[in-house]
Amino acid sequence: MEHIIIANWKSNPDSVIKARGVFSGILKLNKNLKNKKIVICPPYPYLFLGDKLKSPKIFLGAQNTFIDTEGSFTGEVKAEMLKSMNVKYVIVGHSERRKIGDSDEYISKQITTILKNKLIPILCVGEIKRDHDGHYLSFVKNQIVNDLSGINKNSIKNIIIAYEPVWAIGKGAVREATGEEFTEMKIYIRKVLSDLYGANIAKSVKIFYGGSVKKDNAKIFIDSGADGLLIGRDSLDVKKIEAIIKSF
Ligand code: PEP
Repeated sequence: MEHIIIANWKSNPDSVIKARGVFSGILKLNKNLKNKKIVICPPYPYLFLGDKLKSPKIFLGAQNTFIDTEGSFTGEVKAEMLKSMNVKYVIVGHSERRKIGDSDEYISKQITTILKNKLIPILCVGEIKRDHDGHYLSFVKNQIVNDLSGINKNSIKNIIIAYEPVWAIGKGAVREATGEEFTEMKIYIRKVLSDLYGANIAKSVKIFYGGSVKKDNAKIFIDSGADGLLIGRDSLDVKKIEAIIKSF
């Protein structure tokens, strides 16, 4: 089975010179990509680094998009522009964007826009904290149901869902998630999708894991059923990505 590694650079690195270095370093990992693909998601200003990229293994992704609306909107970037820049994947619903105001309603419109442009949405979902009463499950369910409202049976198989527990993401992570926690959530997400679209369609949706993935735990999440990994911090360090790729 082929696994996909999403490199989410977030708002890093702080100069185009550094971005060029990481980008070309990742391209050199091509030879290590048997049964694996990498999607590099730089900030908007560095997308041009991949506008000529043609590789069956390495693709360009964006971290955001504006929604399909007529008119001009200062500061926004449309999905058509991303497509013309050779972008194939677009991350939406990341917890850092939800925190600064992206609502489920907005995310749902983003997904519709992305699909309309024949790009692949990577929808991030995940609870802020765990509790013993299972409220975290209904939290994730609500995100999925609301974010996918308006997405029909034919389109859902083109969407990737990345389970990213907020408590396990970034420098502020409380702790790492376990493989069992991922497996439980993957089963639960499939059940939610199955209730919405039927069991067969639910099975075709790829479910990724993201949150403090590194070389020591990447294989655990893959062995626990992750179809791919979403990597933040370690995706800016070519040696660390290489070690992750070689670890499974
Ligand atoms: C993320 O923010 O999507 C993420 C997975 O970050 P990190 O790998 O740094 O925890």
